[in-house]
Amino acid sequence: MAFIERDIDEIKDELKERFILTSKILYGRELSELSQNEVYNAVAAVVKQYTTENWIKTNKQYAINDNKQIYYFSIEFLLGRLLNTNLINLDLKNALKIVLKELDVKLDDIYNEEPDAGLGNGGLGRLAACFIDSMASLSLPAHGCGLRYQYGLFEQKIINGTQIEIPDNWLRDGYAWEFRKPNKAVNVRIGGHAYMKEVPGEENLQLVYEGYTDIMAVPYDVPVIGYKNTTVNTLRLWNAEVNMDFSDYGTLTQEEINQRQEYRRWVNRITEYLYPDDRLSDGKKLRLLQEYFFVSAGVQSIIRHFMRTHDNVYDLSDKIGIHINDTHPATAVPEMMRILVDDYGLEWEDAWDITTQTCAYTNHTILPEALEKWDVGLFKEMLPRIYMIVEEINRRFLEGIRKKYPGDEALVRELSIIENGQVHMARLAVVGSYSVNGVAKIHSDILKTSTLKYFYKVFPRKFNNKTNGITHRRWLISANNDLAHLIDDKLTREWRQNIKLLKKINNYVDDPDFLKAIKKVKRARKRDLAKYVLSHNKVRVKIDSIFDIQVKRIHSYKRQLMNILHIMYQYNRLKNDPDYDMPVPVVYFFGGKAAPGYYTAKETIRLINAVADKINNDESINGKIKVIFLENFGVSLGEMVYPAADVSEQISTASKEASGTGNMKFMMNGAITLGTMDGANVEIHEQVGDDNCVIFGLRADEVISYYENGNYNAWDEYNTNENVRTVMNQLTDGTYGNFQTLFDYLINSNDEFFILKDFNAYIEAHEEIVRRYQDQDAWLRSSAVNIANSGIFSSDRTITEYAEDIWDIEPVEIK
Ligand SMILES: *Cc1c(COP(=O)(O)O)cnc(C)c1O
Repeated sequence: MAFIERDIDEIKDELKERFILTSKILYGRELSELSQNEVYNAVAAVVKQYTTENWIKTNKQYAINDNKQIYYFSIEFLLGRLLNTNLINLDLKNALKIVLKELDVKLDDIYNEEPDAGLGNGGLGRLAACFIDSMASLSLPAHGCGLRYQYGLFEQKIINGTQIEIPDNWLRDGYAWEFRKPNKAVNVRIGGHAYMKEVPGEENLQLVYEGYTDIMAVPYDVPVIGYKNTTVNTLRLWNAEVNMDFSDYGTLTQEEINQRQEYRRWVNRITEYLYPDDRLSDGKKLRLLQEYFFVSAGVQSIIRHFMRTHDNVYDLSDKIGIHINDTHPATAVPEMMRILVDDYGLEWEDAWDITTQTCAYTNHTILPEALEKWDVGLFKEMLPRIYMIVEEINRRFLEGIRKKYPGDEALVRELSIIENGQVHMARLAVVGSYSVNGVAKIHSDILKTSTLKYFYKVFPRKFNNKTNGITHRRWLISANNDLAHLIDDKLTREWRQNIKLLKKINNYVDDPDFLKAIKKVKRARKRDLAKYVLSHNKVRVKIDSIFDIQVKRIHSYKRQLMNILHIMYQYNRLKNDPDYDMPVPVVYFFGGKAAPGYYTAKETIRLINAVADKINNDESINGKIKVIFLENFGVSLGEMVYPAADVSEQISTASKEASGTGNMKFMMNGAITLGTMDGANVEIHEQVGDDNCVIFGLRADEVISYYENGNYNAWDEYNTNENVRTVMNQLTDGTYGNFQTLFDYLINSNDEFFILKDFNAYIEAHEEIVRRYQDQDAWLRSSAVNIANSGIFSSDRTITEYAEDIWDIEPVEIK
């Protein structure tokens, strides 16, 4: 709100002065002597100067208004680089470009100096990053809370076709955007023993919690800058540090010194690295510690601040909302109970009312291997007091259930937070929250009818849907500025702040000049990617080819294996079938990281590279097919890749991809979706219709029915489908090397994700794409229709719905 566009001439001189002065203060040298990295840091420092004024104002305003504030708890925030988007949001980019040019520095050259903050695995962490961008841009009082991992997601190198993981030491040269706040540190207690003891003369039992270890949680705050408004919110990332004086070594015995050093090593491990397992939960102790560590620090500091500024604890849920992003922060529920009951002496019932009116939960997956469960023994050992509280929450919850549904012990088992010696985190989150949402229509429906159906029966009104979104500022305005300008030409710049207006581009989808301009921009982005591929992969690709792209984490349910098997099929036809032709060449791009211990995923990468190696070097096919594996896919590479796509591969087994957000980034940049009826693909299809996307394969209800009835047999498919059999046999006959493990995976898992079952439908879908692409006018129109109808997938729409339906907050004008 209330943002005056900056006058370039006015701001230019001030900017230049600040930049020169800042460089001198930071480095004590002339500008001309600075390295690229130093120039980057000086620029970032100047941007921070413009940020902090509004940051202070924002916090003051929230305090004056005493409005409700939301804290979005997420174990991941996949931010990527911030310089370009911060410059755009502050409206400083054009002025800075001119200033730097006068000083002989190219802004484009220094972007790459910024480390790509990789504090997330993929979709979940990127969603959190898009959300905090929208919160600030919509002037909403809502902040992020997470962990400051010393090492982000590993850097991926491909060596001899195989993924190698390199630690991501992203903090090596410092991080320009963070502010350490040691005076806001809190202590988190881990381990020890907790029990209730009788006190003579007292009616109530008294809690004893002893022998625990204190860990100091120190916040590092990152400003979250709204788009051309005055709002600057906070992303608070917690760092684990030792809470002990190390200055008295002289008086200690050797054993005490050893103990302290052991303690120091142990503490440092807590925020040392991000677990690289996307949608896998391996039950490791350290992971539970990470989860509780940032949750406890976050909840403690929120309540502490609330108590300092308010005198009635019962107002808490009117002033604070805690959002639990997936189950990792689900201990927010018992932690809030602990603080209210143990520290502030509230009665259980009162504390429970406040807690369950404060917490809201988003479910992100129905994959069984991703559902978080913790062994009771481990949970109790690490978090003894929290475990007691979880037991009590569960006892009272089940007591109520037994009253309401007498005799239904089967129902009780399905609902119990603690079952078979395990703590079920999703169940804890549902019971402790007033709102439970899925992330796309189909996903929210599946939660109600299958994954959480017993909870839906008990709490029907908690359940709702909030279809995911992406920030159009990063994924369109910043990543594809030329396309944003084409839209400006038609709509003025107003759509940038009010994304609903983007729909008006539908008025131009039959305008030949507009379509020509779109084509030109797409070719420019394809040229950028082709240039990158030439230098990184040493492969030349033609930009007249169809750019068919699948970039996302490598996972069996996402079916990269089906994609590469189809390429093998197509290559066979090209080599062996004289009647087969490919009227348009296709370049198939893959990108994505595999969890280091996920063997099938790593073998899939190896297969893609083996196939690429063979096909790219076969001159007999005249370059009709090229296969490119893009190493180290992440946010920054994504900014180049999504805008360069003609075809967006969204081919997960129906019912398995909760939403997907890559699908939205592609669509917004004019790619045609080739996908299954899964996640948000369903809603993309709803937006653009059959003519403007290609849908194939089993539907979710068919998949679920096969699972339930067990009436699918992968061997039958192999035996009866020649297309399947031929490529399957090539996994083991040496055509591409030895991929027996992938063959065995498909058979032994009974083709758990229906790759073989959907194979022929997938072949036909590709044929449909090629048919459509040959009519370039119609294709471009489709591309424009996709852009025009992508506005609903802006996270501004998503966050507006969260604000209105779940959080009950409104925009705050910062005066
Ligand atoms: C958007 C994004 C994802 C999520 O992609 P899906 O196709 O939805 O799985 C993963 N990684 C990065 C770097 C992204 O930007």
